[in-house]
Amino acid sequence: MNIILLGPPGAGKGTQARHLVETRGMIQLSTGDMLREARNSGTEMGKKVAAIMDAGKLVTDEIVIGLIEERLTTEKGAGFIFDGFPRTLAQADALGALLAKLGQSLHTVIEMRVDDEALVKRITGRFTCGDCGEVYHDETKPTAEPGKCDNCGGTNMVRRADDNEDSLRTRLMEYYKKTSPLIGYYYAKGDLRPVNGLADIKEVRASIAAILG
Ligand code: AMP
Repeated sequence: MNIILLGPPGAGKGTQARHLVETRGMIQLSTGDMLREARNSGTEMGKKVAAIMDAGKLVTDEIVIGLIEERLTTEKGAGFIFDGFPRTLAQADALGALLAKLGQSLHTVIEMRVDDEALVKRITGRFTCGDCGEVYHDETKPTAEPGKCDNCGGTNMVRRADDNEDSLRTRLMEYYKKTSPLIGYYYAKGDLRPVNGLADIKEVRASIAAILG
């Protein structure tokens, strides 16, 4: 079963994807994570995209489609969760073609609905454990012990360079201009299922579980 988690930055896509990986053995394909890895390891491509990411703009379709194609052909599991991909109509068409080439299809597109004011709050307080990827928030989900991950005990907490209000406004603009048309695209294909992304994390999990069965 292959699914897309669709929604603006801060909608909770990564948090829900991690849960599906843990409980269902699915494979999370986050182009944002792949691009951050490329940056951190200092590859030529990583250097090329660093400034674009920090500004909150989208990197080229060619780069992200290439990353997805590589992972789709090498990884095996109980289905893929596309997190932060596709973000443009060209990416959505490319994903459809790649899956068809592999004899696979898309099961569902889960649209995580949230309002813009909530996003600003969520994103500006967000930090993650650099060791296991658990996501926290200064106000709504702090660690039990300051600086120590509840999940793995790691102390390497990181904040994303683009999780600031300026970059977020650009990321939101990119979302509305280039990504939100995908809602209509997948609705027309009959694949779209909305969930209330503003609900409590556990409620969102339950809504997604009800959709996936
Ligand atoms: P994310 O972690 O999904 O919020 O992505 C962080 C940044 O990586 C975005 O603001 C873009 O600069 C870049 N990025 C991630 N996924 C894509 C994509 N599918 N298409 C274009 N740019 C992307």
